[in-house]
Amino acid sequence: MTASLASLPASSSATPSSVTAQAHALLQALGVPLDQVQAEGGWPVRSPLTGELLGQVALQPASAVTAVVDQAQRAFLAWREVPAPRRGELVRLLGEELRAAKTQLGQLVTLEVGKSPSEGEGEVQEMIDICDFAVGLSRQLHGLTLATERAQHRMMETWHPLGVCGVISAFNFPVAVWSWNAALALVCGDPVVWKPSEKTPLTALATHAIAQRALARFGDAPEGLLSLLIGERDTGADLVDDPRVALVSATGSTAMGRAVAPKLAARFARALLELGGNNAAIVAPSADLDLALRGIAFAAMGTAGQRCTTLRRLFVHESIYDTLVPRLVRAYASVGVGDPREPGNLVGPLIDEAAWQAMQQALDAARAAGGTVHGGERVLTAAGAAACYARPALVEMPTHTGPVLHETFAPILYVLRYQTLDEAIALNNAVGAGLSSSIFTLNLREAERFVSATGSDCGIANVNIGPSGAEIGGAFGGEKETGGGREAGSDSWKAYMRRATNTINYSTELPLAQGVKFDLDA
Ligand code: NAD
Repeated sequence: MTASLASLPASSSATPSSVTAQAHALLQALGVPLDQVQAEGGWPVRSPLTGELLGQVALQPASAVTAVVDQAQRAFLAWREVPAPRRGELVRLLGEELRAAKTQLGQLVTLEVGKSPSEGEGEVQEMIDICDFAVGLSRQLHGLTLATERAQHRMMETWHPLGVCGVISAFNFPVAVWSWNAALALVCGDPVVWKPSEKTPLTALATHAIAQRALARFGDAPEGLLSLLIGERDTGADLVDDPRVALVSATGSTAMGRAVAPKLAARFARALLELGGNNAAIVAPSADLDLALRGIAFAAMGTAGQRCTTLRRLFVHESIYDTLVPRLVRAYASVGVGDPREPGNLVGPLIDEAAWQAMQQALDAARAAGGTVHGGERVLTAAGAAACYARPALVEMPTHTGPVLHETFAPILYVLRYQTLDEAIALNNAVGAGLSSSIFTLNLREAERFVSATGSDCGIANVNIGPSGAEIGGAFGGEKETGGGREAGSDSWKAYMRRATNTINYSTELPLAQGVKFDLDA
């Protein structure tokens, strides 16, 4: 049922709801004492499902950052000496604890962020997967042995632990992003200090409690190896400024990256930036349209358009536009929007009122630019105005301008016609962000061109799959305004270690490189 905002009932009463009670039961089951979420006058945490208050958490003062990094730095000095496979044992235990907690933590993700139960559990599965990956990695951290120009010399690379790793995470993957970083950082020999989103402290507290159980079972990990800083962006800023934090892995908006990156550059610290996306897909004349429709629908509407990899721009070849787009419009009109815990609802809530306002502003701008908007209205649920449910919007745009050029973190899909593949690739690349992209085609030449050097300029380029829903085995991240960082699989681990090139002379001579002569008459 849809309604205008003005006609919505006021926020429901403050009596503990089933949502609040369920969140408290989950927190207790996961090992979080309730007094941590019942701080008088603390930071309020609301469920986007109903708008109800889930708890109030105490924010740590800025001074806490120094103390926490002090301890993390001491932990680093000890942890870097623990053999990597033994470090992997801690991550193996973390994976076991996450398996045991999967259902409950997934449910808490649903309550705090509004993801569907399947996506909530899927997020925890991603944490388990990266743990498995990192355990294997702990026996494979390797360097090269290289040919040297000097006789009886050996040249090699060695990889060493880097130092304290600061993790700043976004609300929309409230726990998985921590695990992508933490699992790799731990096996690489680095302690982790985590500043989660101020919108998702409950799942962070629960994850921290789960990690504490793994640490207890491990036995002799140094104090402060994994720490949590609950705070606002100023806490994140203090973490960024601390000279002992060797690497800051920051996930969030491009605006956040613009604030963080220069500070890290100024102190020559390492930055791993995972920022906003403005992802596109191309549907070519030969595409399997049934498959494309399903891929587009999940990528554009899933997680209520609140994934960094959400599909936001769709380029449809003019020969199939009038076949595909009306089908998409019908899918947008009929998709179930509402509490995602109820069967049939595939699109859950926006995170908060600000997200709803941003969505409406973008739709107004699209209309002003000549766009035809399908959907985008407020959807009324039993929660009334306290929760922000919006029907996903499909916007047919005459030109690639205005709001199309920027990420609005809401379910809006801008659709445009194209004539040639060159034109579609140029449009794909014509935005600041460079995270994810797709082409739907059965034409081998088109598919190969799209993933080639003259194709998509994004960190992720897919064929016959939408742009969202990456596996942890690959390196994850994007180019340009997405920040250039890579997390998770492949060789992403190298960001968490420092490389040393070693040359060892086992001869009785001292030949210099490049044949340089420097003979002292001593
Ligand atoms: P956000 O930028 O508002 O906040 C992200 C985190 O950064 C929060 O923990 C916040 O407290 C912190 N922060 C903000 N300003 C800061 C500053 N100046 N110094 C230090 N810390 C600061 O983002 P959000 O609304 O939580 O998340 C949505 C955004 O994140 C979208 O743009 C989305 O595309 C992006 N995102 C990117 C990825 C990726 O891997 N590329 C993954 C998830 C989300």
